[in-house]
Amino acid sequence: MYYDDRTEVFLDGEWVKAKDAKVSLFAQTLHYGTGVFDGLRSYNNGNGFNIFKPHVHFQRLKDSAEKVFLNVPYSVEDLTKIAYELIDRNNLTNAYIRPLVFAGPNMILAPSKESHFFMTAWKWAKYPGFEPLNTMISSYLKPSPKSTPVEAKIIGNYSANTLASAEAKKLGFDEAILLDHDGHISEGPGSNIFYEKDGELFTPKLGNILPGITRSTIMEICDELGVKVTEKDITPEEFYKADHAFFCGTATEITHISSVNGEKFKKKWDDSIGHNLLEVYQQKVMFDEYRGLTIV
Ligand code: PMP
Repeated sequence: MYYDDRTEVFLDGEWVKAKDAKVSLFAQTLHYGTGVFDGLRSYNNGNGFNIFKPHVHFQRLKDSAEKVFLNVPYSVEDLTKIAYELIDRNNLTNAYIRPLVFAGPNMILAPSKESHFFMTAWKWAKYPGFEPLNTMISSYLKPSPKSTPVEAKIIGNYSANTLASAEAKKLGFDEAILLDHDGHISEGPGSNIFYEKDGELFTPKLGNILPGITRSTIMEICDELGVKVTEKDITPEEFYKADHAFFCGTATEITHISSVNGEKFKKKWDDSIGHNLLEVYQQKVMFDEYRGLTIV
């Protein structure tokens, strides 16, 4: 699904076949989760392809790596070039790009001296879960920022998210919503969250969430469209009373949430602000940034 015999990946400065790429079973990341990743999208725009906000994603990757004492020996510009070459080499246009920074062999709980860098991509037309999502509030909490830097995409942070998603599916829901350690709505397992109430949007404030690039793009679009967005602490009770809600993220784009814990939101998706935003977002990701000239 993610690669075939012809897939080329970038590993530690070289282009290699995915099937021949090797990694140590003693890599610290594999044992303790001390690695970081990011996720970008490339879009076919009818005139080639466009990678959306690569500079912002790669800066986040470098900042995340620093938090776990790993080094990325490439500039944001280098990483952007590698990403474009990756898509070209694999004859992709609509794709998901996955850079990963991981530690070398190290079985002790101390920073690793060796960092590795890997980038791959696979075909991605639409997120499989594009249907309206029935969600539940998870019994798993988003890790506290006092336990781990939640603003970084650290691999280990994703165990809570994976458990939350598994719990939701086991109980017959499509997806989970995690609360933070104060009991406020934080985010989905792989996306940020917004809700609509009386023609305005609300989203959890920064601090206990991943500062999503899609989240900030949505806020930029809302600014352009004159839609008011408030960042604040959101209780589950406020969320239940929303007119509508949606997840957002690089992979999911804008995905509508139709219910939470069995409570259906009253507004139809087609009439919601989220639906309008999705149309603008889909234009923006294809055209507003240009090869090698990303303005952030
Ligand atoms: N929260 C979490 C936990 C995520 O994994 C993601 C996906 N990266 C997001 C939010 C959305 O972030 P972005 O819009 O930058 O993809």
